Amino acid sequence: MKDLKLNIRVEKAQNSRLSAVDFDNLAFGKTMSDHMFVADYRDGEWQDLRIVPYDSFHLAPATSSLHYGQSIFEGLKGFRNAQNPEEVLVFRPQENAKRMNVSAERICMPTIPEEIFMEGLHRLLEIDRDWVPSTPDSSLYIRPFMFATDEFLGMKPSDTYTFAIITAPAGKYYSKALRVKVEKEFSRTSPGGTGFAKVAGNYAASLLPAKLAAQQGYDQLLWTDAKEHKYIEESGTMNVMFDIDGTFVTAPTIPVEDTILRSVTRLTVIELIQDMGHKVEERHISVDEVIEAIKNGKLKGAFGIGTAVTIAPFAVISNDGEDFDLPSDYTFSNELKAKFQSIQKGEIEDTKGWTYKI
Ligand SMILES: *Cc1c(COP(=O)(O)O)cnc(C)c1O
Repeated sequence: MKDLKLNIRVEKAQNSRLSAVDFDNLAFGKTMSDHMFVADYRDGEWQDLRIVPYDSFHLAPATSSLHYGQSIFEGLKGFRNAQNPEEVLVFRPQENAKRMNVSAERICMPTIPEEIFMEGLHRLLEIDRDWVPSTPDSSLYIRPFMFATDEFLGMKPSDTYTFAIITAPAGKYYSKALRVKVEKEFSRTSPGGTGFAKVAGNYAASLLPAKLAAQQGYDQLLWTDAKEHKYIEESGTMNVMFDIDGTFVTAPTIPVEDTILRSVTRLTVIELIQDMGHKVEERHISVDEVIEAIKNGKLKGAFGIGTAVTIAPFAVISNDGEDFDLPSDYTFSNELKAKFQSIQKGEIEDTKGWTYKI
């Protein structure tokens, strides 16, 4: 962004916590960087834009988002530019800014102007630039979020909100291929619900089924449609892609289906796969079709797609209590991941304008 123009107050941390961080052993989402960007919405406008030391919020017990869940978030990543380590490359942040507003509108929150999102992010990363890891398989995870702050127990959209961006240096998310279970009892969301939005409550609803699956030895769920439990929608907080005889099939998102989160990683992966000369189909895919393809050897591989994991290959799909092994010699997902990450890190040229430089 060349013309930064918003009035953002900056209060720097007195002591950086950076020297205490072990960049060779980063967990995901546990260590937060020194600063955060914050803006408040009141009297119908966003105000008091500021970058301040990462610290607790002071919230009244009656803060409405704690009770009624008017709360949304985003997730994206920044990397050190391999060609120029002084520079940070953020992957497709404008897509997250847009999607955040799709989420906001669904649960009656004010939208956040793209320039506040982008300039807040830009200034924050200028200040916390040294928190962007350069170790392999690591990145700066960026978490924008917004929540209702009215001190009021009545059920109505809040009049006041806080928008904030925090960041956390992060290592690998999953280290091995996943065992996923087709979920046919619980639903993450339903038609007419909030599945297409990154709304906090969606994730609360997914915790119990995920915990039960973990007790049975599975890493993630494969969510199916709420009506018939027949079609595959997503896996955990990832979109999914099935390689059926060299054609890559993934479930449709909005405007076709409002139950699936429109992943930025998926948009990117679709283009990359097409550029590699393969066919991609966005269509409904049933559990039966996948199991049939496994049985007759047509399913070459399957993988989850999302910012945190980039690409996470599946090792096992479990359906109705039966485990099906996926081919263990599938290499495409790793190739794809390597290509994706080399664009994110500036190792190969970004011809699509996906990386945003700071
Ligand atoms: C965030 C999320 C994804 C992945 O989206 P990305 O933009 O690729 O990070 C997929 N599914 C759900 C339910 C999500 O919350």
